[in-house]
Amino acid sequence: MKKIIADRASLIDSSGIRKVFALAADMKDPINFSIGQPDFDVPQPLKDAAVEAIRGGFNKYSQTAGDEELKEKIAAKVTEEIGWARPGVLVTSGVSGGLLLTFLAMINPGDEVIIPDPYFVIYKHIINMLGGKCVYVDTYPDFELPPEKIEDAVTEKTKLIIINSPCNPTGMVYSSDRIKKTADIARKRDIIVLSDDIYDKFSYDVEAESIAKHYEKTILLKGFSKTYAMTGWRLAYAAVSEPLKPMLEQMIKIQQYTFVCAPSPFQKAAEAALDFDVTQYVDQYRVKRDLIYEGLKDKFEITRPCGAFYAFVKAPGQSATEFVEKAIKNNLLIIPGTVFSERDTHFRISYATTNEKIQKGIEILRRLA
Ligand code: PMP
Repeated sequence: MKKIIADRASLIDSSGIRKVFALAADMKDPINFSIGQPDFDVPQPLKDAAVEAIRGGFNKYSQTAGDEELKEKIAAKVTEEIGWARPGVLVTSGVSGGLLLTFLAMINPGDEVIIPDPYFVIYKHIINMLGGKCVYVDTYPDFELPPEKIEDAVTEKTKLIIINSPCNPTGMVYSSDRIKKTADIARKRDIIVLSDDIYDKFSYDVEAESIAKHYEKTILLKGFSKTYAMTGWRLAYAAVSEPLKPMLEQMIKIQQYTFVCAPSPFQKAAEAALDFDVTQYVDQYRVKRDLIYEGLKDKFEITRPCGAFYAFVKAPGQSATEFVEKAIKNNLLIIPGTVFSERDTHFRISYATTNEKIQKGIEILRRLA
């Protein structure tokens, strides 16, 4: 078997997460704090828009870069939110699709990508697979963006800086000051920034600020998966301003020969989604955030999460992996920090579940603390 598998496949290591799910396989009706998607369903008007699109015959390929009407609507939204005039837009198959296209278009073997640690898993593995080098910038213990450390990490080979705010797995929403300082560094050193804003609506205390607002050489990735609970619909977009339009053209070219296009009936539904107000869901998730934080703060070292639906909590004892194994034996499914980090000190909670289950999970964690 080894002979027929390409070497690059071995550059992806999913053993950490596989081990957790192998342990979880025997759990009966677990308290599941591992899920990275909202617990509500797609809002009814958006389901209706998708069904209508399918019935109306929007079932063929769209243009490679996306349905023209959707692209125009996205462009108007980006102009309003970020301030870019006439942005370039590419509709992608999830932010995951946008990440792959960005990395394929940008990363040569040996190129360095600066990534604040902890980080969303996909970045590391795709960059490694392409022969790029991840340069991690440690953000423990408060998980704020550290501009000075980012500047220190820049070399001649730095191609990209990845910013993800609100952040998976820490739940941090980076402060405006740190974002501006990071934008200044990127501009001074002429480095492109990739801003993964998939959780932008899930910000509970302040509006999440995108680095795209402060730096024109930002590839902005925004998704529909989390905001509208449509993770299975595979929809997102990449947007750029004038200086990065040639880069976007390369991404479109690669989409043409890989994904071909994002799912077309759902692109119609995405137009409706852009007008749909999700405040009620965000309000519910703020309550869940408060439950988790208030329920754990006196027993665990926990930074108050401000966005997304995660908390990244310090595990008692030496090894977070061991603590996670103990939690799983007690019917609570959490993810060890090693999946998202070069350290094995924390674990990730996803509180995208019912308030009742959150309470039960808190009880178990407090018992194990
Ligand atoms: N970025 C981050 C930070 C995420 O947490 C996720 C999903 N877990 C994605 C991107 C990918 O989401 P999707 O492909 O569904 O848009």
